[in-house]
Amino acid sequence: MRELIINDEKKFYSKIWLYRSFIYKNTKFISKIKDFQVNECIKALNIKNSKDRISFIIDSACDFIDNKHKRENICGFKDCKCFIQRLKKKNQVNGCCRYCKYVSNKGCTSKSVACKLFNCSEVTSRYDMVEYKDLKMLKVLSPQRRMIIKHGLFTPKEQMMKILAPNLLIYGTARLLIGSVLLNILPNFIKSKRGKNARKA
Ligand code: SF4
Ligand code: SF4
Repeated sequence: MRELIINDEKKFYSKIWLYRSFIYKNTKFISKIKDFQVNECIKALNIKNSKDRISFIIDSACDFIDNKHKRENICGFKDCKCFIQRLKKKNQVNGCCRYCKYVSNKGCTSKSVACKLFNCSEVTSRYDMVEYKDLKMLKVLSPQRRMIIKHGLFTPKEQMMKILAPNLLIYGTARLLIGSVLLNILPNFIKSKRGKNARKA
């Protein structure tokens, strides 16, 4: 396995789309940069199994969000009521998670990056929260996978893995082919048929 030294953060992020491709399947990345997120990306790139890489990235993103306000009661929970519920919705409990089947007495039993990123204005006005753009480790994943993670509210990690693990490249290519048949080839075929019929008439 060949080795590639990473010592320029800006260059690294600009080339990450290439590093995550099959071209670098047999490359071991070595970091000379002291930055947590770069090193998480490098660890992920050195995991060559696609499922294991996705799993690592989801865990890394969740831990990054959780650690920012570890042991802080950012939603102001008191007697199971968050800020908003204490101020306006007095009959409700369990904050935003009240209708979700993954909520438990000990909090969330799932790992959803999208849920962890969601905060109402009451929270964002009080704390500097992690945003989607701050999760640089997600760059190791394809744009399609990143979008699915970004919008996967109420979706636990196990379920998310089932959606993300199939090869989206194959799926994307198939969709592109089907799309081009329906949008280009089929209408052109119909047009040519009509043209032939008109000439015959
Ligand atoms: S994000 Fe806002 S509405 Fe949701 S639980 Fe926290 S304080 Fe309540
Ligand atoms: S999955 Fe989302 S909505 Fe459900 S309990 Fe966890 S954080 Fe709350």
